[in-house]
Parts: sequence; structure tokens; C-alpha cells
Amino acid sequence: MKCAEIRDLILVGYADKELGRLSMGRIKRHLLKCKHCRRFEVLMLKNVVSPFRHADPVTPPSGVWHNISTIIYEHHEKAQRFLDNIKDDLDSIFSHPVAVTVMTVALVFILVFGVILRPLPVEMQLVNGYLAEQEEFLRIADTGKEVYLGTATEDFIIQGNFFISR
Ligand SMILES: [Zn+2]
Repeated sequence: MKCAEIRDLILVGYADKELGRLSMGRIKRHLLKCKHCRRFEVLMLKNVVSPFRHADPVTPPSGVWHNISTIIYEHHEKAQRFLDNIKDDLDSIFSHPVAVTVMTVALVFILVFGVILRPLPVEMQLVNGYLAEQEEFLRIADTGKEVYLGTATEDFIIQGNFFISR
């Protein structure tokens, strides 16, 4: 390993013994034969590591926690007020019998015209019409009678369109 890599590793985790066994071994072997990196290690321990090892734990001033809890409480209050306003609005709407009736009628309209009576796509209407004709034809053919069915296909042939268009 090059000196630069060794020094990077010393900075990253060697002093705190947070590197893997293999890396620790490599660094130790390098330090035995390289006086420049040994000096770097000594300087690093003295100026970077030990000041923090012997530092007192930092306690934030009591005002900090008070400010944080105040901000959290204000946010909570704001959200609660927002929900309360929505609830009040809904309560006032539902306390008006006319409004409730109008909304119920509107909902029924939406349900009937938007969902139940929604028109089928054109292709589906054609397929359904064809199937209904076939069903009618088979039902009457089963009785053995000769009956004018009035189906679109029959009209087409009877009116001569089939032959004229040729
Ligand atoms: Zn070195």
C-alpha cells in the first residue's frame, strides 16, 4: 500500500480501531518500516483524536429543548385546527336538511347516469345487437314456422340491397 492510502486509512478508522483485522495489520506493518507515516500517525493522534477523547460531553442550553418542543406543539396545534375546521364545515353542511337532500339527489344522479346507465361502447352495442338477432332467429327456427323476423339482416336482404349493390 502507498503512504497516501495508509494515511487515509489512519484518518478514517485506524485510531478508533474500527478497521478490519486485515487493514489494521497492513497499517501496523507499514508503520514499522515507514517513519513518515509514523510521524503522521503521532501528529494525528495528538491533534485530532485526543482532543475529542478528553472533551466533556456537550449539553445544549435548556432553551434549545424548550424551543424544539414549542415548535412541535405549534405544528400539532395548526394541524388540529385544520382538521377541526373541516369537521365544522361538514357538520354545518349536514345540519342543513336542504343541503343533505341536494347532495343525496346529486349522488343518486351520479350513480344512475354515471355508473349504471353508462352507455356501452359502439362495438359492444353492435355485438349485443347481433347476438340478440341470432338468439331470436334460433328461437323461432326451433318452432319450424316461417316468420318474418324484422331483423336488420333480413331487412337488408328483403329490401334488395344485397342484390342491387353487386
Ligand atoms: Zn508511509
